[in-house]
Amino acid sequence: MDPATDGEVAAWVASLGLPGLVDIHVHFLPDAMQRKVWEYFDDAERNYGMAWPIQYRASEADRLATLRHLGVVAFAPLVYPHKPGMARWLTEWVLDFAARTPDAVPTATLYPEPEVADYLDAALRAGARCVKAHVQVGAYDPRSELLAPAWGMLAEAGVPVVVHCGHGPLPGDFTGLDVFGEVLRAHPRLTAVLAHAGMPELDVALDLAEQYERVYLDTTMVGVPFTERLTPLPADWTARLAGVGDRVVLGTDFPSIPYPYATQLAAIAGWAHDDRLGEPFLRAVLHDTPARLLAL
Ligand SMILES: [Zn+2]
Repeated sequence: MDPATDGEVAAWVASLGLPGLVDIHVHFLPDAMQRKVWEYFDDAERNYGMAWPIQYRASEADRLATLRHLGVVAFAPLVYPHKPGMARWLTEWVLDFAARTPDAVPTATLYPEPEVADYLDAALRAGARCVKAHVQVGAYDPRSELLAPAWGMLAEAGVPVVVHCGHGPLPGDFTGLDVFGEVLRAHPRLTAVLAHAGMPELDVALDLAEQYERVYLDTTMVGVPFTERLTPLPADWTARLAGVGDRVVLGTDFPSIPYPYATQLAAIAGWAHDDRLGEPFLRAVLHDTPARLLAL
């Protein structure tokens, strides 16, 4: 039975024979910044044209307890800057967070600025195993010359970068998978995880995954009723997923989601009802593939 509530998640995960969930797309931020993000979502009707009631607005300790209760055994806490001069200290903050949180994988972030190679190199040396790039919030061009050394460094290190480069929930100056596709053309060995499976361009994200063997899709907000209204899955979604089934990874956007965590899992479980996917697909998405990507 697919999980209908958060209370059912841990037993469902165990029934699949998994030791737990590995979530590659979770957000933790310094408290003051987290409050500002939630204030933005509280104004979502004006910002996005729809209400966005945050499901897990709680203290950091309570949010960590919730993840553990759900059976999340490891997660990538992702941070991202919206202007220059932020990425270094955010990276330092999240590395410190991961150092004091055993189930958090050390991560880093980046921004097109002259010092990016310096702080990214330091973060990789400090053990960062995942990087977040937010093209929409950062409003930068991922093809920027300033970022070329960073993409090269990540390709060389084999460290995955979770990239929000799609037009959802709002288009940005440089969003669009065609734009990030140019980065992949220049850095074909980059391990890139297309956040939200590239929403709303799910079909183009699948094209890129078929074209580049190191391109992955994360499930964040994909196929849940909240987004299905605006971005319905393509009719051939599960058929095409079968072709790249070992490059789909669990992501959720916890805690700032407008529905329970179980809703995302139920959506993924629904895809697995297609016989071409089934339980092997679930085990890969929910645990094995993200565990491999995050070098657990
Ligand atoms: Zn996110």
